[in-house]
Amino acid sequence: MTNKYDVLFEPVQIGPVTAKNRFYQVPHCTGMGYLRPRAEAAVRAMKAEGGWGVVSSQETEIHPTSDLSPCPENRLWDDRDIPALRLMSDAIHEKDSLAAIQLAHNGYHAYNNASRAPLLAPSDISLHNLNPKQARGMDKEDIRNLRKWHRDAARRAREAGFDIVYVYAGHCMTLVQHFLLPRLNDRTDEYGGSLENRARLMRELLEETKEEIGDDCAVAMRFAVDEMMGVDGMQAAEEGRAIVEMLAELPDLWDVNVSDWSNDSATSRFAPNEGYQTPYIEFVKQVTTKPVVAVGRLTSPDLMVSMVNRGIVDFIGAARPSIADPFIPNKIKEGRIEEIRECIGCNICVSADNLAVPIRCTQNPTMGEEWRRGWHPEKIDPKGEEEAALVIGAGPSGLECAMQLARRGYHVTLAEASSELGGRARLEAKLTGLNAWKRVVDHRVYDLQQRGNVEIFLESDLSADQVVELGIPNVFVATGSSWRSDGLGRHSRTKIPNSGKLRLIAPDDIMLGKLPTDGPVLIYDDEQIYLGGVLAEHLNENGIEVIFVTPATMVSPWTESTLEQGRIQKSLIDRGVTLRISHSLQSIDETGCTLGCVYSGKDQKVECSSILLVTERVRNCTLFNEVEKFQEAKPEQFKTLKLIGDAASPGLIVDAVFSGHMAARHFEADPDLEADEYFQREIINLEDGS
Ligand code: ADP
Ligand code: SF4
Repeated sequence: MTNKYDVLFEPVQIGPVTAKNRFYQVPHCTGMGYLRPRAEAAVRAMKAEGGWGVVSSQETEIHPTSDLSPCPENRLWDDRDIPALRLMSDAIHEKDSLAAIQLAHNGYHAYNNASRAPLLAPSDISLHNLNPKQARGMDKEDIRNLRKWHRDAARRAREAGFDIVYVYAGHCMTLVQHFLLPRLNDRTDEYGGSLENRARLMRELLEETKEEIGDDCAVAMRFAVDEMMGVDGMQAAEEGRAIVEMLAELPDLWDVNVSDWSNDSATSRFAPNEGYQTPYIEFVKQVTTKPVVAVGRLTSPDLMVSMVNRGIVDFIGAARPSIADPFIPNKIKEGRIEEIRECIGCNICVSADNLAVPIRCTQNPTMGEEWRRGWHPEKIDPKGEEEAALVIGAGPSGLECAMQLARRGYHVTLAEASSELGGRARLEAKLTGLNAWKRVVDHRVYDLQQRGNVEIFLESDLSADQVVELGIPNVFVATGSSWRSDGLGRHSRTKIPNSGKLRLIAPDDIMLGKLPTDGPVLIYDDEQIYLGGVLAEHLNENGIEVIFVTPATMVSPWTESTLEQGRIQKSLIDRGVTLRISHSLQSIDETGCTLGCVYSGKDQKVECSSILLVTERVRNCTLFNEVEKFQEAKPEQFKTLKLIGDAASPGLIVDAVFSGHMAARHFEADPDLEADEYFQREIINLEDGS
């Protein structure tokens, strides 16, 4: 019997190798790389197990002059790096997928902080990051060396077992792309000037990689066709297209996207639609006969089929969707489409790479935990001796905990005080730009509704007595947190003097749709993460004048790690929001507030009609404390009493989901695990002396 998704499961030839289907996990970072090769292999193995026809590595430095420390990417500096990468290709092959590796020389995008090597670029240039160094324009010997390093790395990649080897010109992160761009390349020799000259290095690396390994391995070209900078950068309609036309048949596969990383991995807040890259890349298949892969947060199987049928791509590329759900291909194949855990486009995965720590995902709490904790996104141990569990609070933590406990086979009672499930995830998803975040709730509620062993009680604001009366011996308390109204936060550790005459609005009021009718509203964002900026956009979107005050030197500084900060600050400026950066809130009176410059202490008075404080949260643990007191008096009443999520430690939604997941996994597990959620580490072997 055929079905409409069969086209996604057709094999596709890529040069000398054949992918078993059209699902292609494009290269993405994991924060593991050369430092954590077993964990890295396990991430990729999970994608292969989930059915991806091709599974790629992250970028792989080919030489110490391309040292991205402290971010642990992959390395192929010399032969000693081969065994770590072999772990990955073996793990991918074991699950019957093709293994791809993205070779990279990062040019002036590298840091070389560990190697202390000089930085290389087409022309002399300052580093784009705040690194107090300049890169030197490469001379002919440098270029010859680079070509040799790339050739050597390609040979090592084949020895390490990879089937597809990349030449990489994307995200403004590699030398090959830097040579293409006139603003970075003002050379007057055969590598500068005309497009043909600027593309010479790209052509040479493609030809030499093919020559070195092309009989056995496919050679893929990852190329950013548009920088989304208009005339100031490469445009798909101009040189982007001309380059693909020029080199159309040279690689065995074109993996095309937009640059820089913030455009390629745009968040749902700024690129809400799946397939947002299609307008830029759709020309590619018209100018090459080689297979094409493209991305754009593709999770909907119908859109995937239509992209193949309309001749836009041969492969459905995915980084984030494959992180949120490594089993997308298998779920589509088995008709379990409703079970797909859809990416919400929050870029928490990206933030981990930027912080140089192992990857994590809001939707998939097992991501990054495959090796070190042995977690599998689709499997969990069946229940032990206990029969029933009570979960109190249905925010992201309570929902995840309840869902996993139910999957294990316990009878789960889920009690929620409000009339709707979802807690902060449901509320925040009502704000401008965060609509996709409701997928955190939808996925879990759908799953819970499919199960016969779950009872859900809404409008059940449980007291400690009621918890005792219910008589369920295992209790997980996920009662969340509330925003402070006294101004304590990162900057001020004393309460902010307040006459009590000015209207105070709580963030939850806005999320519940209780908007003020007049302005200006002064938002004081001393949390400095994302919510203050979102609330400013939301009020402005609803026609309310906003004054945005923060002690930070920029709006929402934490969002640099999710690649959003520049967009957020631009959005607030474009919207006409008044910004008072580097100012703290000194006091609140009848007509407004007094602000102080965080550097000079100089005061200024600002008039406003109400104030919205986004500073810090208070844990809602009164219920837990009362139940705990009861348990101390009558220990036999409860076997398990555990505080989870924001009530245990306020953080991001990703942290709440993780906490709920871990509590469910560790329930009735080996007591050593409870010793406190330790994990395996990859310890450097001191014995071999290498
Ligand atoms: P988390 O991020 O840890 O999941 P949230 O704040 O999103 O936390 O969710 C906490 C949920 O707990 C909210 O939906 C809230 O209505 C609910 N809740 C708080 N106290 C109680 C209680 N005593 N009984 C039942 N539900 C509660
Ligand atoms: Fe998607 Fe967010 Fe998960 Fe990244 S962390 S894969 S953006 S849901």
